[in-house]
Amino acid sequence: MTLTGVATTTGSRIEDAAVDGFKAGLRGHVLRPGDDAYDEGRRLWNGMFDRRPALIARCTGAADVISAVTFARDHRLQVAVRGGGHSFPGHSMCDGGLVIDLSPMRAIRVDPAARTARAQPGVKWIDFDHETQAFGLATTGGTVSDTGIAGLTLGGGLGWLSGKHGLTVDNLIAADVVTADGRFLTASATENPDLFWGLRGGGGNLGVVTSFEYQLHRVGPTVLGGMVAYPLDRAKEVLRLYRDFNKAAPDELTTYAAFVNPPDGDTVVALICCYAGPLDKGEQVVRPLRSLGRPLLDGLGPMPYVAQQRLFDGGFPTGACYYTKGDFLPDLTDEAIEVFAEYAATKPSPASGVLVQTTCGAASRVTSDAMAFAHRRFPYAPVIVSEWLDAADAEKHVCWARDFWRALHPFAGAGVYVNDLSHDDGDRVRIAYGANYERLAALKKTYDPDNFFHLNPNIKPAP
Ligand SMILES: Cc1cc2nc3c(=O)[nH]c(=O)nc-3n(C[C@H](O)[C@H](O)[C@H](O)COP(=O)(O)OP(=O)(O)OC[C@H]3O[C@@H](n4cnc5c(N)ncnc54)[C@H](O)[C@@H]3O)c2cc1C
Repeated sequence: MTLTGVATTTGSRIEDAAVDGFKAGLRGHVLRPGDDAYDEGRRLWNGMFDRRPALIARCTGAADVISAVTFARDHRLQVAVRGGGHSFPGHSMCDGGLVIDLSPMRAIRVDPAARTARAQPGVKWIDFDHETQAFGLATTGGTVSDTGIAGLTLGGGLGWLSGKHGLTVDNLIAADVVTADGRFLTASATENPDLFWGLRGGGGNLGVVTSFEYQLHRVGPTVLGGMVAYPLDRAKEVLRLYRDFNKAAPDELTTYAAFVNPPDGDTVVALICCYAGPLDKGEQVVRPLRSLGRPLLDGLGPMPYVAQQRLFDGGFPTGACYYTKGDFLPDLTDEAIEVFAEYAATKPSPASGVLVQTTCGAASRVTSDAMAFAHRRFPYAPVIVSEWLDAADAEKHVCWARDFWRALHPFAGAGVYVNDLSHDDGDRVRIAYGANYERLAALKKTYDPDNFFHLNPNIKPAP
């Protein structure tokens, strides 16, 4: 007997006629197993995950998203939502369900006079920066240009402008959302303000965002950026310098520390920064970063903001395998610094590393309950990233990141950045929302009582 239709994970099948009707009602395309573009369509940035959805709806606008949500609900299909496809735990692809793929939605409209931008959820930071920098404008965005604006914004958004302009969510003015019951709502400070509160850090739990509106700021086009790098054996003194330097840094400056390998080189400890202010002032501000004597590499200087936004691009190729562990640290104590130095020296792959991100300056002055993103008190957000090519090698790379994290965790404050969670961090999801979890659970009950959107750092609807 030949089976027709589409198989789902629940063992049921959706008749071809129903799928054909769904397809006919969309402006975008629907991919199913066997279609030429299916394998490319299900590929994620993180090669650790190889999932086979029953259907991929490549949406072109809010109307397609409403149809996809309705179709999935009517046929009891599990749903994954894909923006830029860079979720560390691979949440944007599912086995046997429907993927609401927003990647064709890449329109951006900048209003230079109002200094705002509207962007669709398939936009990546490289597109966003391209359009906004044409007017000398920008907002806080991700530090790898291939990352999607959607997932990053909905989790919080740490970037080179965090010190001066806050997190990405601090710059979100409004969003259009399709909720689990297929309604289209606008959320802003004045329209559905509770939904707006929850979107800003709620990790995509409350609906599918079909448009984001951001506040922009005058940035660049030239900033003082780049990095200085020292040999690994100077790791402890470099991190101590970084700690003291950060405490006195002005808002214009955002600085990360990282243990990375230059191409074909040994592991170095790098201090990477962006000064978003007058260049001559910036030169003075960053001078202490060179105070440890001659760096191995000195790449600090004036550069286009768009180049700063692409500094890390070479290190995160699509299709490699990745595993992450994150935390928030209240301080970089000498004991914590010992841990960084020890584990950086035992990286099992040159591509692996750790990035110490910061949430200082303007990002730290927003109250913890102003929006769903709760973690404003701890200035350091280290993310340990294991990267390897052969999926069969996973164990040693995952173990290194886990061991590193276990050693560092005693120095951490409560919480973790929701976008840095890994696939086995299920027991940490609650603390990722911190004290805002209960309010988010109540919102989840209002906007998604059946937990239709659950492939995310999941908030259970309040009873
Ligand atoms: C290489 C790399 C660099 C990174 N750098 C930074 C950084 O500098 N700063 C930072 O803050 N984070 C950073 N991150 C983390 C990043 O914010 C998350 O991985 C984020 O989820 C990526 O968004 P995306 O749209 O590309 O991912 P996707 O995988 O498409 O989406 C992730 C999740 O977000 C939800 N989602 C996506 N789109 C929508 C939508 N329109 N509506 C509702 N829910 C949606 C879904 O639940 C989805 O599963 C980085 C990640 C990577 C892989």
